[in-house]
Amino acid sequence: SRHSSPDGHEPNPLLAENSGEVSETPFNTLGLIPELLQTVEALGYKNATSIQAQAIPSALQDRDIIGVAKTGSGKTAAFALPILQKWWEDPKPLYACILAPTRELAYQIQKQFEALGANLGVRCCCIVGGLDIMAQKVALAKRPHIVVATPGRLQDHLENTKGFSLRSLKYLVLDEADRLLDMDFGPIIDKILKVIPKERRTMLFSATMSTKVKRLQRASLVNPVKVEVSSKY
Ligand code: ADP
Ligand code: MG
Repeated sequence: SRHSSPDGHEPNPLLAENSGEVSETPFNTLGLIPELLQTVEALGYKNATSIQAQAIPSALQDRDIIGVAKTGSGKTAAFALPILQKWWEDPKPLYACILAPTRELAYQIQKQFEALGANLGVRCCCIVGGLDIMAQKVALAKRPHIVVATPGRLQDHLENTKGFSLRSLKYLVLDEADRLLDMDFGPIIDKILKVIPKERRTMLFSATMSTKVKRLQRASLVNPVKVEVSSKY
């Protein structure tokens, strides 16, 4: 990622702004497999951020997660690492779907998944508005392992792309849930929730916990573990 130095010795500029968020927890105490620990080390990550240290062990124990932390706290790896590990144990297509509010965020999440999953041979696909719908149909027909999407375009493919479904999905991530709802994606997310398995795991991340986010939490998560990084450090 563009924020981590290749040699791992320069401070991460985004995290340096919020230095309290880097925990004292080394990655190798969280239950992650060596294949992922190697990649994390190669990316220059020393310790887990606070949200990662709290979320990863619970996610690896198959719990739903609700994570509240501001931008730059390392939320992407907090959900990507456990999902990649579970996928590695059972490498199926269309395993996880990550919903993000904007194309740019979806693209960044896809890049992080590919970087963190570099050792595992995981195939990710980004399904966002504004890009060629036929090219996306072709990409989905190849049955990628991870789909990162904005809700509107994903729903479009669920309705109109022959042969594409998320009926075997194991993980749903609602990233930046407060922004997803501010952008009025709530009704589309409700439709998506109806066509994915109830037996899946769900992780919801948000910078804030509004009434709307709590409603979405109740509609999509089962007995979640709440992990929170307070802004006061
Ligand atoms: P958020 O989603 O909470 O806004 P990101 O997941 O985008 O944050 O992470 C912010 C930046 O921090 C990214 O560039 C990422 O590569 C980097 N990063 C994530 N975890 C760590 C870590 N444990 N150590 C160092 N850098 C990290
Ligand atoms: Mg994020």
